Amino acid sequence: MNCLFCKIIKGEIPSSKVYEDDMIYAFRDINPMAKVHVLVIPKLHIPSADGVDEDNSAYIAHIFEMIPYIAKAEGLDGGYRVITNCGDDACQSVKHLHFHILGGEQLSDKMC
Ligand code: 5GP
Ligand code: ZN
Repeated sequence: MNCLFCKIIKGEIPSSKVYEDDMIYAFRDINPMAKVHVLVIPKLHIPSADGVDEDNSAYIAHIFEMIPYIAKAEGLDGGYRVITNCGDDACQSVKHLHFHILGGEQLSDKMC
């Protein structure tokens, strides 16, 4: 499968790692939209939030268990935003489920 984020997980494409365990990988976005912009991905290829089901939802639960840890490590004491773009209408550009963690500054009050 020709998936950019699967290649990042395997180390075939370099990335700036923030956190890793056996289920998930977190790294800095190459084009940050805020002072802190981290992507958190499951090590299982799930195309988008629309592909979450009872067989793979443990990965999503684990991502959300670790987001507070990652946010604390990144110094996001003032809060942060978690976003996932799902499908073409939402402009999802990489078809491997990922959660953006944005923070480190005052974010826009507009969601889109
Ligand atoms: P999406 O638009 O699918 O929600 O988000 C994809 C994100 O992946 C974008 O914010 C983009 O900057 C980031 N991205 C794309 N290619 C790379 C890459 O090769 N390395 C890293 N670290 N981020 C990438
Ligand atoms: Zn993938």
